[in-house]
Amino acid sequence: MSAATLSMPGATPPPGVELGPLVPVYRRAPVEFVRGRGVELFDADGRAWLDLSSGIAVNALGHGDAGVAGVIRNALECGLIHISNLYHNAPGRALAEALVARSFASSVFFCNSGAEANEGAFKFARRWAREVGGEGKTGIVALRGAFHGRLFATLAATDRAAYRAPFLPLTEGVTIAERDLGALAELLAPDHIAAVIVEPVQGESGVRLLDPAFLHGLRKLTGERRIALIFDEVQCGLGRTGHLFAHQALDVEPDIMTLAKPLAGGLPMGAILTTGEIALAMRPGDHGSTFGGGPFVSAVALHVVERLSDPVLLDSVRANGIWLGEQLDQLAARTGRVRAVRGKGYIWGVDVMDQAALVVGRAFDLGLLICTAGEHTLRLLPPLIATRDDLSRGLAMLEEAIH
Ligand SMILES: *Cc1c(COP(=O)(O)O)cnc(C)c1O
Repeated sequence: MSAATLSMPGATPPPGVELGPLVPVYRRAPVEFVRGRGVELFDADGRAWLDLSSGIAVNALGHGDAGVAGVIRNALECGLIHISNLYHNAPGRALAEALVARSFASSVFFCNSGAEANEGAFKFARRWAREVGGEGKTGIVALRGAFHGRLFATLAATDRAAYRAPFLPLTEGVTIAERDLGALAELLAPDHIAAVIVEPVQGESGVRLLDPAFLHGLRKLTGERRIALIFDEVQCGLGRTGHLFAHQALDVEPDIMTLAKPLAGGLPMGAILTTGEIALAMRPGDHGSTFGGGPFVSAVALHVVERLSDPVLLDSVRANGIWLGEQLDQLAARTGRVRAVRGKGYIWGVDVMDQAALVVGRAFDLGLLICTAGEHTLRLLPPLIATRDDLSRGLAMLEEAIH
């Protein structure tokens, strides 16, 4: 870095921000983990942290899982990490077949992250909507409190002023709507809406479970108006609610569903699952991804999807989730420092009176890793393998951190 660059206007870091080799977009906790095992992470001195954040809902099978490690070793033996989408690959096809067999979908497109999956879903929806409804049918509607990613179209569908403001203008034709059927009916009445995207459980905005009646109403509205209903299950999907897909508990099916976070056991992967009708609106050349669905990442994801589909695992997440909710309610009553508790399975939001980041910091000092979801909301995302004992240990530290 030359002195000239540093003296350019705007190049002086604001207080608390240091120029380093990494662009300073993250606030990181003061630790470097060197090892992981199950629900625990360790630093170089051997100090352990109980991880009830799962790397933000990614490590559903915990850390250092032997099955995942075995699949990775096997996949490497054949020497195929990447071959591009110019050629067929058996693991990618097998993974798509596994997702189709377990869902409403007929076809799958693979990409590399959640935001990318949602961007692709918008393209799929527009391509199909134009075909069924004409040139002007392009609008995309997202909900109050939504988080769909940080690329331009997904940011336009994300309801967080601080994330959006520095990067305006965002993709046009994207509207944020209230979580209200009456308002939506009005908004969707004209013929220019192509898609509505919703998280069945809103994650980043505080763990808000959408009302099943609202989702049923939305399904009816979008079906009548030939609007693609997209479920973003990047965070709430793949077992987190105790159902393989969150919407499967609600008896409502989307036209498109996006997945990512836990899909490939911590390797980057996203997926767009879609009905046959929408898949057939997409033609060769309409979309693509250099890395998407390669043989290595697909082999790992196939193993993860099979493991997360295990009814024994899903039953335990459901049962332990009910227990965890009761424990959190009791903790709230005991401490008097909690305003509300919301969640299901292994995704819980806890509204606290203090700044959430302060409580997360105190929990960290005690040996517990949790996330925030908004200024006053803590978010618990335990690995799906966490036992009641693990959760109990976490609850004890959480109570101390909240007090
Ligand atoms: C994390 C998340 C995304 C974005 O995923 P990235 O892989 O970070 O791009 C999108 N939607 C939801 C619901 C998420 O939780």
